[in-house]
Amino acid sequence: MNKKTVRDVGVKGKRVLVRVDFNVPLNNGAIEDDTRLTAVLPTIRYLQEEGAKVILLTHLGRPKGKVVPEMSVRPLIAYLDRLLGQKVLFAGDCGGEESLQAVAGMKAGQVLLLENSRFYPQEEKNEERFAKALAALADIYVNDAFAAAHRSHASTVGVAKLLPAVAGLLMEKELKALSFALHNPVEPFLAILGGAKVSDKIGVINNLLERADYLLLGGGMANTFLKAAGHNMGKSLVEEDKVEAAKELLAKAEKTGVRLLLPTDLVVAEEFKEGTKKRTVAVNEVPKDWTALDIGPDTVKTFEEAIGKAKTIVWNGPLGVYEIPDFAEGTRRIAVAVADSTAKAVVGGGDVVAAVRKTGLTERIFHVSTGGGASLEFLEGKELPGLAVLADK
Ligand code: ADP
Ligand code: MG
Repeated sequence: MNKKTVRDVGVKGKRVLVRVDFNVPLNNGAIEDDTRLTAVLPTIRYLQEEGAKVILLTHLGRPKGKVVPEMSVRPLIAYLDRLLGQKVLFAGDCGGEESLQAVAGMKAGQVLLLENSRFYPQEEKNEERFAKALAALADIYVNDAFAAAHRSHASTVGVAKLLPAVAGLLMEKELKALSFALHNPVEPFLAILGGAKVSDKIGVINNLLERADYLLLGGGMANTFLKAAGHNMGKSLVEEDKVEAAKELLAKAEKTGVRLLLPTDLVVAEEFKEGTKKRTVAVNEVPKDWTALDIGPDTVKTFEEAIGKAKTIVWNGPLGVYEIPDFAEGTRRIAVAVADSTAKAVVGGGDVVAAVRKTGLTERIFHVSTGGGASLEFLEGKELPGLAVLADK
């Protein structure tokens, strides 16, 4: 990685503002998945050991510039206390009187959590005055919020322009894994793309068609490709206005020689719900009033064979409606194949990561990204503003 990290700056006795992504699922103050907290521990511990004063800043949910008490980050304090084995301090604002005072009283090795950055309308608008208030709290800025790196907000970009700004250890880990896969893969390089909509994924398909040896398509998105290939998709999710784009992508695959694999069979259902009538059909036999909600067993077998040959894998988007157990099997079996393969696999995307987590296989996968939108934009080849603004090595 060509960006400076926390290891490249002296932090002893310094006030270090660390942008983290603690946007965890909260249910009545209880954390349902603490992955995003534990993922940042290496950076926090490193800074503590080096004698820094650690000021944590995050967003949580979508309060849209207003104080929404249910989206306060205060419930995270008890978890952080436990994870770090010490009392974590809290300030009920971001760069206001309370946080200034709290920072002034900090000792080296202490950790302070600021209130939800998105309680301020200036955050998402990246207003300079707010960025300056944040910068006034610290000597050094660290971005360890990979999952927010695709956002141009005051806490990710504005403040980074006002202080010496470097990457945290999670940011570094994410970028190493993703750039290995995208820029330096051991071949054969295989990409699996699924999810709901083609419109979300055209950029990533385009980019991967120039890099991958295999491209496996599934999920709702594949329906539009199957339609482009001449199949009748019944009531399945198809983006009519993207059928032409899908045809072009199929033609591009021919040209670049990427082996693009579409589903050959599908699990179709009468309705979009658990326990409805379902059956497996070939892609040219989707009944008129039925909807395709998962890839079928023949497709799984073909995909498994391709995955078995790969040395590098990138996976974005589930291959079926994994939230409904009746249609989760295709995604589950592909997760098993990816975990079983000897390839280095990078899995990124909010939903696909949730699906893989359900299988309990994450430990056996090379890299499971904490960034949904950010990982997708990285795979599209886009520049991440929160990364671009950090100091170069
Ligand atoms: P990710 O977050 O991994 O990038 P997306 O957000 O693009 O993935 O897509 C996830 C959604 O796609 C899930 O809610 C899933 O139910 C849906 N999906 C997958 N397959 C289908 C399908 N055949 N029909 C409709 N929706 C689907
Ligand atoms: Mg998603």
